[in-house]
Amino acid sequence: MALAASFAAELRGVLGAEHVLAEPEQLRVYECDGLTGHRAIPELVVLPASTEEVQGVVRACAREGVPFVARGAGTGLSGGATPVAGGVVISLARMNRILEVDLDSQRVVVEPGVANLDVTRAVAPHGFFYAPDPSSQQVCTIGGNVAENSGGSHCPKHGFTVHHVTGLTLVLPDGAAVELGGKPLDPDGPDLLGLVIGSEGTLGIVTCVTVRIVRMPEVVVTLLAGFESTDAAGAAVSAMVSAGILPGAIEMMDRLTIEAAELAVSPGYPEGAGAVLLVELDGVAAQVEEDTAEVERLCLAAGAFEVRAAADDAARALLWKGRKSAFAAMGRIATDYYVQDGVVPRTRLPEVLRRIAELSAEHGLRVGNVFHAGDGNLHPLVLYDAEAGETERARELAEAILEACLDAGGSLTGEHGVGMDKACSMPRMFSERDLEVFSRVRRVFDPDGLCNPGKVVPTPRLCGEVPGPYRMHALERIGVAERL
Ligand SMILES: Cc1cc2nc3c(=O)[nH]c(=O)nc-3n(C[C@H](O)[C@H](O)[C@H](O)COP(=O)(O)OP(=O)(O)OC[C@H]3O[C@@H](n4cnc5c(N)ncnc54)[C@H](O)[C@@H]3O)c2cc1C
Repeated sequence: MALAASFAAELRGVLGAEHVLAEPEQLRVYECDGLTGHRAIPELVVLPASTEEVQGVVRACAREGVPFVARGAGTGLSGGATPVAGGVVISLARMNRILEVDLDSQRVVVEPGVANLDVTRAVAPHGFFYAPDPSSQQVCTIGGNVAENSGGSHCPKHGFTVHHVTGLTLVLPDGAAVELGGKPLDPDGPDLLGLVIGSEGTLGIVTCVTVRIVRMPEVVVTLLAGFESTDAAGAAVSAMVSAGILPGAIEMMDRLTIEAAELAVSPGYPEGAGAVLLVELDGVAAQVEEDTAEVERLCLAAGAFEVRAAADDAARALLWKGRKSAFAAMGRIATDYYVQDGVVPRTRLPEVLRRIAELSAEHGLRVGNVFHAGDGNLHPLVLYDAEAGETERARELAEAILEACLDAGGSLTGEHGVGMDKACSMPRMFSERDLEVFSRVRRVFDPDGLCNPGKVVPTPRLCGEVPGPYRMHALERIGVAERL
């Protein structure tokens, strides 16, 4: 449905003509996020520079009944930032200023388009860092992190985004702006901050974020352990957890992922390993020394054929480069890959990995495994060749892997979010009543269903479920979906 020319003209008046994109070749840039299987061309992309400009855009959308989708860096892997065809994409890319560094309060106030790593870069000279560290941290934005409640390798010990954000400015779907929280921890009243963090852009547009920064640890030791198999590496992880050791990070990669990482960035992982563990211990020197010795002992007892510590910062960075480049490295061994994101109880990791191997053989497609072993968050990478017609088989395999995670008592997503990709799987994990509560909460913020519609909570027509009482969905209203 083409938006009226007067609508675009109004937005140009609010933002300046150069910040309203409408040419087909400009719009194509925004047609998908990191999960390229979902695509749609928006009618307009707007690039506001302030909360007031975001409000101006959202008010106009609310008045005209036009759906809108916030977008950070577009690195999301669940189709969360996929546009609504005929709707507006609100890119926060121009809102990329660090507004305040308050070392006394250990807070940094940023606009939503600031890249995650830039927060640490701003405070590192003062001995602080921003703890949530998604592997995409060089580019993904704080606004996107808030929407997805992003985590990273160091989250089992240091916590997720929700543990490090103390305040937000949120533009509601009617265009009003509200302040949630601030610099203090635990503000009075209901925890609306907790509600908004992880709501995947469905409750409004975040335009300012106050984050907590933490002191850099006195000592950091990064250990690399090579094992014959993921079973043996999994046993080492269980042993560490049972011994009460809490590393900053425990990451595992299997043989295929190691092969790809070596081809891409040569991190020097042990030759012939069926699995490697990267274990990082941080804290006060005496404790780290004691824990390092214990982790080494436990790895060797579980069958590690090599355990070594990074000798210096450069060696440590190289070991991490292998891990953080693992997704992209798959391009060295396959033309296409599909990243799955599921969680299993840590104790059931070996059994689920065996099931993944069986499913891989059954579907005739290779699967590389790289994951945050510390919190049981798996990222199976299904390798396929789209040109050879393997896309559908890859999708089926990825879904079967997710089923295996759920059967093992796990969950749908660890950190990539539900987005568009997994909305239809929500009934597998939540009851009809749960989903109705989610929808009711959402309607309180967004009664007209304009803010990132079609994401997170399943849409009856799109998922083929039994619908509740009829209410026209925003996607139907603009003619891109119909109720059968
Ligand atoms: C190579 C790679 C590695 C990754 N590793 C990790 C990882 O370790 N941990 C992890 O958690 N994720 C990871 N991700 C996923 C992704 O980077 C995160 O979900 C990230 O938080 C998305 O940020 P973004 O700025 O790219 O957001 P986008 O992809 O642009 O958007 C994501 C969602 O946030 C919403 N949104 C964006 N900005 C705002 C805003 N200002 N207000 C309201 N809603 C908004 C969008 O509507 C969308 O629903 C990885 C992705 C890639 C490609």
